[in-house]
This record gives sequence, structure tokens and C-alpha cells, in this order.
Amino acid sequence: MPDTHHAQLDWDERGQPLSRSYGDIYFSQENGLEETRYVFLANNDLATRFAALADGECLNIGETGFGTGLNFLCAWQLFEQQAPAGARLHFVSVEKYPLHHDDLQRALALWPELAPFSTELLAQYRAIHPGFQRLLLADGRVVLTLLIGDAMEQLPQLDARIDAWFLDGFNPAKNPEMWTPELFAELARLSSAGTTLGTFTSAGVVRRALNAAGFQMRRVPGLGKKWEVLKGHFIGNPQGEGKPWFARPARPAPEKHAVVIGAGLAGCATAASLAARGWRVSLLERHAAVACEASGNPQGVLYLKLSAHGTTLSRLIVAGFGHTRRLLERLQRGADWDACGVLQLAFDDKEAARQGKLAAAFPADLLHSVGREQAEALAGIGLPAGGLFYPDAGWVHPPALCRQLVQHPLIELRPYQEALSLSRQDDRWRVDGPSGTLVEAPVLVLACAAEIGRLLPDANLPLKRIRGQISRLPANALSSQLRTVVCAEGYVAPPRDGEHTLGASFDFHSDDLTPSVAEHAGNLELLREISKDLTERLHAQTLDPATLEGRAAFRCTSPDYLPIVGPLADAEAFAETYAVLAKDARQVPDASCPWLHGLYINSGHGSRGLISAPLAGELIAAWLEDEPLPLPREVAEACHPNRFMLRTLIRGAGSPT
Ligand code: SAM
Repeated sequence: MPDTHHAQLDWDERGQPLSRSYGDIYFSQENGLEETRYVFLANNDLATRFAALADGECLNIGETGFGTGLNFLCAWQLFEQQAPAGARLHFVSVEKYPLHHDDLQRALALWPELAPFSTELLAQYRAIHPGFQRLLLADGRVVLTLLIGDAMEQLPQLDARIDAWFLDGFNPAKNPEMWTPELFAELARLSSAGTTLGTFTSAGVVRRALNAAGFQMRRVPGLGKKWEVLKGHFIGNPQGEGKPWFARPARPAPEKHAVVIGAGLAGCATAASLAARGWRVSLLERHAAVACEASGNPQGVLYLKLSAHGTTLSRLIVAGFGHTRRLLERLQRGADWDACGVLQLAFDDKEAARQGKLAAAFPADLLHSVGREQAEALAGIGLPAGGLFYPDAGWVHPPALCRQLVQHPLIELRPYQEALSLSRQDDRWRVDGPSGTLVEAPVLVLACAAEIGRLLPDANLPLKRIRGQISRLPANALSSQLRTVVCAEGYVAPPRDGEHTLGASFDFHSDDLTPSVAEHAGNLELLREISKDLTERLHAQTLDPATLEGRAAFRCTSPDYLPIVGPLADAEAFAETYAVLAKDARQVPDASCPWLHGLYINSGHGSRGLISAPLAGELIAAWLEDEPLPLPREVAEACHPNRFMLRTLIRGAGSPT
């Protein structure tokens, strides 16, 4: 099948890339660097604006057409030269045809002076799949959010306030769809007073359409062969907020100190995202160390359960997977994780049909169908069927990821501190434990799974616990030939530390965390369904389940299977403020939301915390710091903690929101 998801390039005699599909260049063939610096950096006045940033302040650049990332790298270089150490840069760029890694490497090798930046970009340029893909660079001081897909499909999903635009979508004559009034209306929606814009074209249609959209554009001299280019700024009316219950709450206080309760993946990721933004974080954990509960299994699988229909959950999974996959580059491959690939077997006709649709809907470098023989060759063992192969996925030792996330001087991990009650006084949250106050801070993030129900009973968050048990199987020479994770109803991973992890049971009723023999037996049954060959290699058919070692924990899920991530309103005041919705769910009252100021939730990640929890940390930080959201607005709203009180209110009113 032809690869229709990536840029198809030709290289000219000087080694510069050309787009085969558009018949156009990526940057000026005479003076690429100089032109970028003039058209995009100077015409947006970025040197001065970077230098004027205060500590903790972030400048947001938006771009149409990421291409080789040359504009981004030049902006990052200038930011490093000009901005104070505590300032941050956020770059959002939309790209329909991302370059393959090899092509990007070849293109960027043209600019040796950018090498420190391009090397870092290339190291993180992994799993660049459709939708929102966030890359953390320079220890999180520079954030790149790539929107992979057509600009008119992606930009409407973006929630951000852009300070400077780079318009770089090929020549308007060759690619008119990147220069339409509809697209410019999106740029205007994301702009505010003070937003500037620079572009290499001086085409009259572009200038007039930008003016009509609310920008004031003028022609200025160009460089080299180009007579003129355009620069301008936004003079239109800024857009109002949408539904008030999903609006961005104001920061409760200038002090950047947050308490995070729970040091599993959700809590550690939240702490990391806040610390990268200069927040001091007190991370309270009732156990001795991070990752002692659901994030404590020896191996977790990067298992993507996708839909071919672009559901909110599916978009969250693709974005979350990419983000986690890039974070894993910081860990030791082989010991802490492995991108060995994940094979999802087509174990019955229904699953085979579902997989066929997925293979047609997603790029092959995310997933592709494999026949049985190919699957066996990939896995290194005999299998009952072919399936879907996710080449970039694999297994992770979640405690290693948690430990890596909290390694930051601004994060103080406080073990053996069990939060028992919360109260709010004088704009600060107070957390009390068994023998008095543990800590106080203006911001509090609850990342303690279903324990949130006990700490915050009035919120009525519908968090459910589902017990899961894994079994540990000692590896041997024959079983160690397993080369990928293989999943059917259960999963088994290649060995880590001489043991395979086999999982996992689901029990909606049990409150007991002692590993049970019945569930070990159930896991062995799951193994038989995955592979009789591997069962034999492990002598699992004769193993006594009572002799198996294992581990049980509670997953925490929500009724709609989406995590619960973001700020939270006071349920009682919410019901009063928006009582009218009970009569007419279509109303959007303009009363502002009665927030529990400074309180945020990060929970409900179910069995896919490895995929959704790290990105949820970025989402919490984006809500708090008024930054571009790392997910489409619709997905962020679908994960919003207020959704349940909203549903309660409109239930019976006849219309969904
Ligand atoms: N800024 C880039 C750089 O620094 O290398 C060069 C961008 S290149 C001139 C234009 C880019 O726009 C290409 O990468 C192309 O794939 C992308 N593009 C074209 N049409 C698009 C569309 N409709 N939506 C999103 N991206 C598009």
C-alpha cells in the first residue's frame, strides 16, 4: 500500500528537500536560514519579545506547515539566546504530511549550526501519529505540540492563545487550501490583541483575506529574489469563552506551590509537568515509595484499544501513546522498557473484522495487519492467528517511569504521608493526616485513584475500582524466544529480569488484594488462548497455579471509560448556578462556574494509565497555566471532572451537551 500519511520527498542537486506531491520547496533554496530568521522571527519581533518575557511567562507561537521544523528550530535557538532562564516557549504547528524520521534527519543535516537543537528534536521525533502530539524539549522549557492532519481538520480542535503566527503552507498558487478565509478565521479565533503574523508570501488574495479575518497586514521588503513579504497583527475582536463549566478557571494565587496526593503514574506525571513550569510540588504518598499500587506491576503493556471512528477515547489514546512513547526515551531500554512491538491477535471473526477497519484507518507505522506466519516470525513463537502489529509499542516497568518523572529538584516526595481530610482556608488547601496537618498550598491535585471519593465525598465522582491480578512466570531459554508482547483477551510480555508478566484478571466485586489461586488459574487460561506453543515452552499446562507468584491492585475507572482530568466545581453550587439546564439542556447561562478554586483531579485511567496518565499531567498543567491544551478541546471536555455533575443536572432534560 502506498504511504499516504508521510511527506514524499525528492532531493535536489544541493541536497535540499522538495515535496513530490506539491511540487514545491520547503524553504528558500538560496538562503533558507536567513529567510526564516527574517520572515518569521524578525517580522514577529521575536528577539525583543523573548527578551521581555518574565520568569514563568510563556510565549506561544503557532505555525501552518511544520515541514522540516526549520522555523521551529530557529525560533528555539533565538529563544535560548534571548529569553530569561525561567521563561518558556510553546510552539504549535499543524502538518498534514509529517516527514519520516530519516528524511527529517537528512534535511536538518543541512544546518550544522542548529545541530544542538535538531539532535534533540530528532531524538524526540518518534510516534508522530495523527492528531495532537506533544514533544517536551529542553527539560520541558520548550514544548512542541504537533497537530498531525489537515489544517482545517486540526486547527478547529485547538484551544490556545497564540502570540505569533508563522504562515508557511507552500506557495498559495500551489496549495490554496492552506490560505483560505476559513483557515484564517481559525487563526483569528486563536488570536488576541497583540498577536502578530508573518509570512513569506505577498499574494494579494492572502493579504486581503487576512485583513478580512481581523488582521492588519502590510507588505514589507523581502529578501533575495523575493520583492515583498507580509507582516501584520490582529485587530479583530477576541473570541469569548465557550460553556462556562468547561472554561479555564483563574489561577487561585501567584504562589507556585502545589500539593499532589498519590505517587502513582498520574501523580508523578502531574508533579513532573508542574515542576517543569517552575512549580514547587509536595508529592504525598501513603506508601514507602512511588508506584506501590496500580502503577507497581513489573511490566505494563502499551496497549492501544482504538476505534476506526475517531472517538474521543481513540484520539486520547493516540495522543497519549505518542507522549508516553517519547518520555520512555529517557529510560534504560531493555531494563525499564522495550519497544519490542505489541501484537493483538485476531482471536475471532469479530475481532478480525474490527482489526481490518483499524488497519484501513491508521498509518502503517502506528499499526498494520499481519498474517499468521508473519505474526509468528515477529513474535518468535507459534500462534493461533495473525492480528494487528503495533511496531512502536511494547512493555514498560511503570515504577521506573514514575521514578524518572519525579526526579526534579522542585519535587519533594513525601512517603508515608496519608491524606485523610481536606479543607480550604484563606485561598489555601490544607491536607490533614492521622496526626495533624501535613501540608498547605494554593493548589491541590488529587491523583489517588478511587480514594478521591473518601477525600472529597461531596463531589460524587463516579470512580469505580476493578481488581486486577497479574502472574509472574519464570522465563527459560525457550520462552525467552518470545520477542514481542502478545495480546488476546490477556497479554504476555517478553521477559524482564528473568520473568514474563502474564495478565490480567478483572474482578468488579473483590475488595481483597491478596493474590488468588483462582485468578492465577484464569491467567494461565488466558495464556493458552494466546499461544499453546508458549504455554508448552513455559510448561504452564502442568504448573500448579497455587505455586505462582503474582500481584493484585485496583484499577480505577469511570462509567464512560474516559479518565477524569482537570479542575472541579463545587457540586452543590454548580447545581444551583446552572439549575436552568434541568429544564432546557441547550441553554448556556453566562454565570461563571463555581470552581473549587485550586483543586484539580487526575484519576480514572483504568488499565491504560501508561498511555493516558503522563499526558493528563500535561493537561492539568495547561489548565493551570493557561497554556495550549495538549489535546483537542473536545477530548479535554470529554475528560473534564465537571461532566458528571452536568449530566446529573440535564438528565431528563432531553438533550446532550
Ligand atoms: N515550516 C516548514 C519548515 O520550517 O521546514 C516548511 C513548511 S512547507 C513550506 C509547507 C508544509 O505544509 C508542508 O510540510 C506540507 O506538508 C504542509 N501542508 C500542506 N498542506 C497542508 C494542509 N492542508 N494541512 C496541513 N499541512 C499542510
